[in-house]
Amino acid sequence: MKHVVVIGAGQAGSSCVAKLRNSGFEGDVTLIGAEPVPPYQRPPLSKAYLMGDMTLERLYLRPEAFYADNNITLRMHSEVESIDTNAQTLTVSGETLAYDELVLTTGSTPNRLPEAIGGNLDGVFVVRDLSDVDTMAPRFAQDAKVLIVGGGYIGLEAASVAAKLGLKVVLVEMADRILKRVAAPETSDFFRELHHRHGVDIREGVGLDHLMGEAGAVIGARLTDGTEIPADFVIVGVGIRPGVALAEAAGIEIENGIRVDAQGRTSVPHVWAAGDCASFPYRGERIRLESVPNAIEQAEAVAANIMGAEKDYIAKPWFWSDQYDVKLQIAGLNTGYDRVVTRRVDADSIGFWYYRGDELVAVDAMNDPRGYMVGKRLIEAGKSPDPEVIADPTTDLKALLKA
Ligand code: FAD
Repeated sequence: MKHVVVIGAGQAGSSCVAKLRNSGFEGDVTLIGAEPVPPYQRPPLSKAYLMGDMTLERLYLRPEAFYADNNITLRMHSEVESIDTNAQTLTVSGETLAYDELVLTTGSTPNRLPEAIGGNLDGVFVVRDLSDVDTMAPRFAQDAKVLIVGGGYIGLEAASVAAKLGLKVVLVEMADRILKRVAAPETSDFFRELHHRHGVDIREGVGLDHLMGEAGAVIGARLTDGTEIPADFVIVGVGIRPGVALAEAAGIEIENGIRVDAQGRTSVPHVWAAGDCASFPYRGERIRLESVPNAIEQAEAVAANIMGAEKDYIAKPWFWSDQYDVKLQIAGLNTGYDRVVTRRVDADSIGFWYYRGDELVAVDAMNDPRGYMVGKRLIEAGKSPDPEVIADPTTDLKALLKA
């Protein structure tokens, strides 16, 4: 009987083992994770869980009993040290384990600030793991001063929680605008204005020179323009790197992540990869997606292919972010866009629709679930309505789906 081993007990790993069992896989299944807890959702770590609005049990993707009930061996607190792809074995906690099929769902690692500029001072945090948030949460006290480095979604979500809890928030973004890597200027303007209304001090186009410390703890920062910002603690949200170290050391091909084919196979037989760590073919390019929907769907596709489905994974990218009372929903990928069309629905709802030439490629919808839903379906169907039709708030969006 086959033994499938999955390394990385996060969103993708948990989805993969559940899918194997739901599809009737009868062999042995082992899920190995470095963290001391069962697989959990990461998005609430910078949203409801950080805010204190969500219990730990609700964070778990499945109750811990699910794994034993489904005859899945869950090994927590166990970091896989190496893989021997010839012998089809791996080492974990000094033990050698054999596999027939191996799935790498090792996620990603947050970038940290270098030690030379104070990155190792006490009070400097990243937001990736549950333990990061549990350690940081007691600092979220009324009137505490927090400096956030990086104006991407995680930094902005942390700023939103901090401002709501009454902290004094300064956010520094080195690029000339927040969200520059992922969104159009229109979306950056929307969120800058939203944060200003909630009292967050956003500094764009200025970098961090170094963090200042006293007795080993952070007390503030000096920016590249010479400004000094006092801070009781610092949150660093400056991007992530795919978790490829284990695969690379095992001789598996890496190309901006663990390189997989359309069915999730790596360059080495019987080794698969999915989720944040995997780069895969998409519309003639090779991409990596850092999102929950991708982790789930790609991992489920790998499970199906291990069982012989021979089915390509066709990504349907979508993402969301919650800040204050705004729900942002994103459909598609805006790579290479050359035009952004604004569709204002009412005072609280607005959408920015991205076109590349005549092709609709992505939608950022703020408090506009209908715009998001229709945009997503149009993109997936390869339909691109005339931009003027989209901009007209009287257009019946749903009718466009039938056109
Ligand atoms: P992960 O969930 O990171 O799991 C990987 C696991 O592998 C980790 O537990 C790690 O410890 C383990 N591991 C790594 N190496 C080893 C090893 N050698 N041995 C054993 N275990 C190992 N996405 C959205 O779509 N919407 C959002 O709003 C959103 N918000 C987010 C907010 C935060 C704060 C963060 C951190 C992420 C957010 N994301 C969001 C991204 C989303 O959570 C990730 O894309 C998703 O978790 C990826 O799943 P994964 O299984 O690939 O990786």
